[in-house]
Amino acid sequence: MTFSADISPLNTMALTCHAKELVCLHSIDDVLPLFERLNQNNMPFVIVSNGSNIILPKTLDATVISPTLTGQNMLFEDDDFVHLEVMAGEVWHDFVVASVEKGWYGLENLALIPSWVGASPVQNIGAYGVQVEDVLESVTAFHIPTMTFQTLSKADCQFGYRDSIFKQQVGKWLILSVTFKLHKKPLINTKYGDVAKTAREIATADNRHIITPKDTMQAIIQIRQSKIPDVKDLPNCGSFFKNPIVKKAIATDLKHQFPNLVTFAMPHSDDVKLAAGWLIDQSGLKGKGVFPILTHINQALVLTNHAPFSASQQDIKNAMQLIQDTVEQKFSIRLEPEPVWIEADGSIRQTH
Ligand SMILES: Cc1cc2nc3c(=O)[nH]c(=O)nc-3n(C[C@H](O)[C@H](O)[C@H](O)COP(=O)(O)OP(=O)(O)OC[C@H]3O[C@@H](n4cnc5c(N)ncnc54)[C@H](O)[C@@H]3O)c2cc1C
Repeated sequence: MTFSADISPLNTMALTCHAKELVCLHSIDDVLPLFERLNQNNMPFVIVSNGSNIILPKTLDATVISPTLTGQNMLFEDDDFVHLEVMAGEVWHDFVVASVEKGWYGLENLALIPSWVGASPVQNIGAYGVQVEDVLESVTAFHIPTMTFQTLSKADCQFGYRDSIFKQQVGKWLILSVTFKLHKKPLINTKYGDVAKTAREIATADNRHIITPKDTMQAIIQIRQSKIPDVKDLPNCGSFFKNPIVKKAIATDLKHQFPNLVTFAMPHSDDVKLAAGWLIDQSGLKGKGVFPILTHINQALVLTNHAPFSASQQDIKNAMQLIQDTVEQKFSIRLEPEPVWIEADGSIRQTH
């Protein structure tokens, strides 16, 4: 069996991976012929965009599809909103910065997430109190089982916390473009963490009293850069575990045992979100793990690879299980990994 496509540069965790073939999709016209060929040859496939949320095996018996479709189209605008269709292969952060520069708001809090636009709905990316569903209008995708092009409304996407139909039905959809509805009037959301304080400092340094959406974006960039290691310096895939969502009674019980427990109320529900990073930190695992995979010293939720292009999926599993077991012993909560785990045969493992 030959694994001639070195796709190692396509993952921010810096795992070495060789696949059967790599196909870059530059045009929507290439989509149907590609899936006809894959079907005819019974070839498994895996979609990889920027590779910032995947854990790859050493060899991948599958075709890797890189949806490198680029471009942006203004659909229409009125006094309050612009409606934009953005192709899947556009770099997320560049889209955020360009939108804010143009005076189109709503994306500021999602700055610096190392995603491509097409991957943003998959796990409903979120940060600092905003999720992509807040600004998303629809998704155009190729439905692989029926070989049809479809447009899904926001409701069709079935968004949840780090969840969507695209994550639930992995391998069934190839997202081609995303339509956003952005505000023309400044929209400021500085409720989370240090965002308000940092944005105020940025405005004050510029002799202004009023915070702008650009200040919010700059504040979020500064905060993220101070907390999350740059993947080029220290490979990682962002938050490795989801923040656990538990029943209120469980959170109350834990709060009695651990008065400093960090909790967030969930909108439209009685459930409570716990901070996975805090649980890991309090389990004595900050900066620890199973070498070469260690939690980051400034942010225990981030697993970092200290042996780029030498560490393996098994190394990540070893560190992950140590963290899950240690946190479970202390808090009776089993942390769930966030990244997509890709097996050697191209299948996706959902739980561990
Ligand atoms: C430093 C760092 C910080 C991060 N911060 C955040 C954060 O604040 N919030 C957050 O939510 N996430 C964060 N992440 C995780 C990650 O960036 C997001 O999940 C992102 O959306 C993944 O995009 P990607 O292009 O890298 O997708 P990939 O990792 O390439 O793919 C992720 C999944 O989406 C599927 N997929 C990708 N493109 C498509 C497509 N066009 N059609 C169908 N399926 C597709 C893949 O098959 C895979 O299952 C962070 C990651 C890193 C490394």
